[in-house]
Amino acid sequence: MDEFQLIERYFRRPAPGSAGVEVGVGDDGAIVRLPPGRELVVVVDTLVAGVHFPADMAPADVGYRALAVNLSDVAAMGAEPAWMTLALTLPAPDADWLDGFAAGLWGLAGRHGVALIGGDTTRGPLTVSVEVLGHLPAGTRLLRGGARPGDRVFVSGTPGDAAAGLGLSSPAGAAERRLRERFLRPEPRLALGLALAGRTRAAIAAIAAIDVSDGLLADLAHICEASGAGAVIDEERLPLSAALLEVAGRERAAELALTGGDDYELCFTLPPDVNADELSADVAVTEIGVMTPEPGIRLRRQGRDVPLPGGGYRHFGDEP
Ligand code: ADP
Ligand code: MG
Repeated sequence: MDEFQLIERYFRRPAPGSAGVEVGVGDDGAIVRLPPGRELVVVVDTLVAGVHFPADMAPADVGYRALAVNLSDVAAMGAEPAWMTLALTLPAPDADWLDGFAAGLWGLAGRHGVALIGGDTTRGPLTVSVEVLGHLPAGTRLLRGGARPGDRVFVSGTPGDAAAGLGLSSPAGAAERRLRERFLRPEPRLALGLALAGRTRAAIAAIAAIDVSDGLLADLAHICEASGAGAVIDEERLPLSAALLEVAGRERAAELALTGGDDYELCFTLPPDVNADELSADVAVTEIGVMTPEPGIRLRRQGRDVPLPGGGYRHFGDEP
């Protein structure tokens, strides 16, 4: 199978009707039409085997993940995804691996109506780079710098599950299988992102949002830094899943929820006048704290300050 046969077989598919693709796979570049009055949002993420995913991860899970992590960024901007490009570096054109990879990628792309419009195929150590292009109406963007002191801090879903699932490569029992699934198949929170974007237009103040890829504290630190504010988080408000509590125990579960990565939930803030119950989305959201004028993140347990997991006081994100 040469490069062109490979592209033809796995990566050339008709675009969804709504996609606005003028020129897709097959020419030197792609041409798309942006719907009138909307701004382009561009995100890209590279996954290197052995660094960003285990080298032996099932190819369908790699295909799913390569797109999911990008859709999560699109969600965190409050945008709708429309198109993607794929830069694929493969040690060899392995048909079994490509079948699985394509199934995982196209399955998720189909659910969200994302068209593959181009890419690049090369030989080398397994690396997958997906770029997603989306759009949003002017004025509804969700930025990290949108938070103000007094805004409430929320998180979607049940953080910590994916970090627990990462280590469970042969899960036993329903709870472990559930955590493993949450690691392997993170659900990009696109509906929530759109609901938040709708509210940021109506609200007087802005809504800040970020997707949780590095850990809740680390990613909230980015909101704090960009907003020139801090936050206090109440440990007992963390939404810990029954599966996580069962597998990890309460103390470790809270630590994973605060520091574990790979959840791809949204962390966001709401101004006092925006009611979280009015957000229609397919995932629960939980208020976990409040933004403060003084910088840095503090953790409270039953009203008292406790050290952040990992020790000490984290000022702003100290992750790479
Ligand atoms: P060029 O030499 O002009 O860069 P290529 O030979 O690399 O073009 O690619 C041929 C066509 O196939 C282009 O339209 C390119 O966007 C597309 N393409 C290449 N690799 C992929 C891929 N992995 N997924 C989707 N489209 C791809
Ligand atoms: Mg060319």
